[in-house]
Amino acid sequence: MTTSSSALQPVIVGAGPAGVRAAEALVAHGVRPTVVDEASRAGGQIYRRPPASLAQRSAQALYGFEAGRADAVHAAFDALREHIDYRPDSLVWNAHGGRLDVLHGPTRSTSSVPFGQLIVATGATDRVLPVPGWTLPGVYTLGGAQVALKFQGCAIGQRVVFMGTGPLLYLVAYQYAKAGAKVAAVLDTARLADQLAATPAMLRQPAVFAKGVYYVAWLRAHGVALHRGVRPLRVLGDATESRVAGVAWHDGREERTLACDAVGVGYALRSETQLADLLGCRFEFAPLHRAHLPVRDAAGRSSVGGVYLAGDGAGIMGADAAEWAGERAALALLVDHGVAVDPARAETLERKLHKLGAFREGLERAFPVPSDWAAQAPDELVVCRCENITAGTLRQSVAENGTDEMNRLKALSRVGMGRCQGRMCGVAAAEILAHATGLPLQQVGRLRGQAPIKPIPIQLAVREPAEGAGA
Ligand SMILES: Cc1cc2nc3c(=O)[nH]c(=O)nc-3n(C[C@H](O)[C@H](O)[C@H](O)COP(=O)(O)OP(=O)(O)OC[C@H]3O[C@@H](n4cnc5c(N)ncnc54)[C@H](O)[C@@H]3O)c2cc1C
Repeated sequence: MTTSSSALQPVIVGAGPAGVRAAEALVAHGVRPTVVDEASRAGGQIYRRPPASLAQRSAQALYGFEAGRADAVHAAFDALREHIDYRPDSLVWNAHGGRLDVLHGPTRSTSSVPFGQLIVATGATDRVLPVPGWTLPGVYTLGGAQVALKFQGCAIGQRVVFMGTGPLLYLVAYQYAKAGAKVAAVLDTARLADQLAATPAMLRQPAVFAKGVYYVAWLRAHGVALHRGVRPLRVLGDATESRVAGVAWHDGREERTLACDAVGVGYALRSETQLADLLGCRFEFAPLHRAHLPVRDAAGRSSVGGVYLAGDGAGIMGADAAEWAGERAALALLVDHGVAVDPARAETLERKLHKLGAFREGLERAFPVPSDWAAQAPDELVVCRCENITAGTLRQSVAENGTDEMNRLKALSRVGMGRCQGRMCGVAAAEILAHATGLPLQQVGRLRGQAPIKPIPIQLAVREPAEGAGA
């Protein structure tokens, strides 16, 4: 089928590295996309821009080694502004019948955005595995701690412990310490042996590997205590249990504690896949990501005609890959609608994306999800904080009802039924269910995406009932 480029009606959800490069490629081929992003400024997570009122910090101060790439992505987007229909502050909370339901945050107004083609570039959030005490004020995800620093220019506490695993663990600790915050310790659940074994694979991207080594060396040189192979035990509260006062962990030999007033915790990232789910994309379990992900071909085509997937929203591959995947998906969209593109460029992008695979495998091996997390989670641990559902309640559901599938577990226990719709607790609940049933993680399934995919004022959903909206 041949379509004139002006007859296309593409919408891109997400103005991170993937969305920006997708928009750029479409514009370069004479197409004017609509770009919808819930953030107030383009850049996505890694290249998040502070509000104009706080924008005195240099790119170097905000993005460190990534300053050059951040500037390049921001400049590319700024140059596109005349050629795209940009909708900032606009949350896509539902998708149905070729339209997106959008909430404009500042005005609380809603709109319905039609699309002919859709590029979903919705990025990722932290993978959360709770620890007793994680609901105390003063506990943040690693990503949340970084957003506070990058966007608002503030630290989450005066004396901060970072805990969990993943590349973000050391990066955020480095960024905090570099910005002048007191980092009391970095507690990594991965063992040094994991990281050494993964080194050959990670050396496939020597520059990225070198940055990781630098962060660790810098933290050590600046007196930050680094402990590997730990098992987090609990976040300790103050006398009134009204805020964080410390952390306790096991170092393999004994229990240890450390005083702090804030904790950043996370276990790498999980893809934001709900929109792809509402659009009907087929999902498969991806062992590398330990998650069910929407299936895409090497060019970013999903299983649904006209829907393309790019960036971390379809599997965590990092910011450089997001840029390449965004551009590649846009080229696929153009080709699918009869617009000529440079096939050599498409091939180059696919080759670069393919080459990253071995490195990503290395990263997952270097920072594995703790295999004993579910076994160690005490019954009283709150897994779903929206609905206050504990690990014990989930286990009880398995024991009493024979529950062995995530959506059934949700129906019976209410896990994942609250404001976050399982975005925060879904990973942990699946780990508990797999452990309690003895089934492999892929067999317990995933929570189906439901509208609204992120919290919206309830009266808006009532005023504008939409197909597929439900609990
Ligand atoms: C909190 C956080 C911090 C990170 N920090 C770093 C870092 O410092 N260094 C590093 O190398 N990597 C970092 N990463 C990973 C890195 O951000 C990603 O690899 C990269 O940004 C992926 O680009 P992307 O375009 O796929 O997604 P993102 O950059 O995440 O962009 C996705 C965009 O989609 C928008 N969006 C999502 N859902 C909706 C919706 N429903 N409606 C409207 N808009 C929506 C978001 O507002 C966002 O702007 C971080 C990730 C997270 C989650």
